[in-house]
Amino acid sequence: MESNKKVLLAFDMDKTITNDCSEFKARSVLSENGIKALKEFKCGGNKDWGAYQQKLFSLMKDEGIDLDKLKANIQTIELAEKMSDLFDFIRVNRSTYECIILSGGNSVYINWILEKYNAADIFSNIHCNKAVFGTENLIEVTNDSSDCIRCKDNLCKKQYLQTYLDRFDKVVYIGDGENDFCPASILRISDLLLMRKDYPLFKLVNKKNSLKP
Ligand SMILES: [Mg+2]
Ligand SMILES: [Zn+2]
Repeated sequence: MESNKKVLLAFDMDKTITNDCSEFKARSVLSENGIKALKEFKCGGNKDWGAYQQKLFSLMKDEGIDLDKLKANIQTIELAEKMSDLFDFIRVNRSTYECIILSGGNSVYINWILEKYNAADIFSNIHCNKAVFGTENLIEVTNDSSDCIRCKDNLCKKQYLQTYLDRFDKVVYIGDGENDFCPASILRISDLLLMRKDYPLFKLVNKKNSLKP
């Protein structure tokens, strides 16, 4: 396959493009008791992301929260500082950059945020947990789980990024979280990793580097 002369910018979503975690933001529409029930569910040893989502949405249903309320809440999430400047830069340099999102979040939240900031045009592809508006619950989420040991509770971003490495000579990966470590670990010498300073990915990479002889 002919390699692509464009540079791929692969973005994480939560706390990279935005300044907030959409899961935490979604949870905040619940009453205090609802949030407590959700925390207890998680503390009960249930780490599975898909099961957590179903619990969250069933609690929303119990509390009569509708999609408009949830959407308004998610759309209070702000972009990270200078992100809209970066989007403007990408728009005038489309012949140089191709952009994708690799997120462990769900597609409905991502699309709501991109809609709010008119930024959907920036990305050629979004790889995340697919979500649709449901009848039983507000949102039905399909957890795209992987057999990666590090990412067993949610999707592994590495499997998606791998397919782009074959097509792009240069990839810039931009992330903040521990789930960005897996994709970051397959970057080549020609690629670039941009980490949010003092966030979990930054700390994890520094820890791994300090362990090297
Ligand atoms: Mg993140
Ligand atoms: Zn992984």
